[in-house]
Amino acid sequence: ILSGKTVLVTGSTSGIGLGIAKALAAQGANIVFNGFGDAADIAAIRQTVETEYAVKTAYHNADISKASEIEAMMNFAATEFGGIDILVNNAGIQYVANIEDFPTEKWDAIIAINLTSCFHTTRLALPYMKSKNWGRIINLASVHGLVASAQKSAYVAAKHGLVGLTKTTALENAQTGITCNAICPGWVLTPLVQKQVDARALKDGLTNDEAKKALLAEKQPSGDFVTPEQLGALAVFFCSDAASQIRGVAWNMDGGWVAQ
Ligand code: NAD
Repeated sequence: ILSGKTVLVTGSTSGIGLGIAKALAAQGANIVFNGFGDAADIAAIRQTVETEYAVKTAYHNADISKASEIEAMMNFAATEFGGIDILVNNAGIQYVANIEDFPTEKWDAIIAINLTSCFHTTRLALPYMKSKNWGRIINLASVHGLVASAQKSAYVAAKHGLVGLTKTTALENAQTGITCNAICPGWVLTPLVQKQVDARALKDGLTNDEAKKALLAEKQPSGDFVTPEQLGALAVFFCSDAASQIRGVAWNMDGGWVAQ
């Protein structure tokens, strides 16, 4: 359903972003990858996606904490593919500490990467989408865009902010073919979460499996992780015609986390 469309997924060299990029490529979309990682690994990811789904891919190494690098990435996407039809603001980082111990540079980095970058990609993607009167902007927020957890002040603030940006973007474009929605996952077992599993195992003297179960038991009633493939399927739905009147929602996929 997405053949001929171009997708930019920020932070698509790993985890959820990679899962979403693959799901959209499986629908025929060309993919602009972004994110950090080993050059050979990124080349292998591109090769697999191109071969498996018969689409074109490109890669830009922008550090999205910097507006100038985001601008370079958007210009690159325009040169390679003409422009971006589907923008997935996915890259994000986490840091866990009480507010009085929270390093100020970590606060600044989380706000820059998890929130401000999405303003820049959105403002730069909209003119092309408007010229086509079609577009999809999907913001990877989190259950932490809807509820809080202790020790995640910067992340919770950024994700609540991203849900707000999502609603404003949706409203400003409400009478166009451009929709903007947020996806709010609970725990997904990616490198971002594995770090928190490792910290928990160390703190409480648990095995890797015990630490995973402990994290899930606290917050996620299903007791299972959400998967990048499931999030990819939701992103595909948001891109479909059936979802054209879904605008400005923050849709949780969280094993029941925020139902409590
Ligand atoms: P991940 O660590 O597996 O991947 C993060 C990606 O972002 C990587 O590709 C990384 O290279 C990229 N990235 C980080 N900093 C960057 C920068 N400055 N410039 C460009 N790219 C950068 O993380 P993930 O778990 O897949 O998280 C993806 C998104 O989903 C994040 O926004 C995260 O907050 C959100 N999320 C994750 C979970 C979870 O449980 N894993 C839950 C809710 C929301």
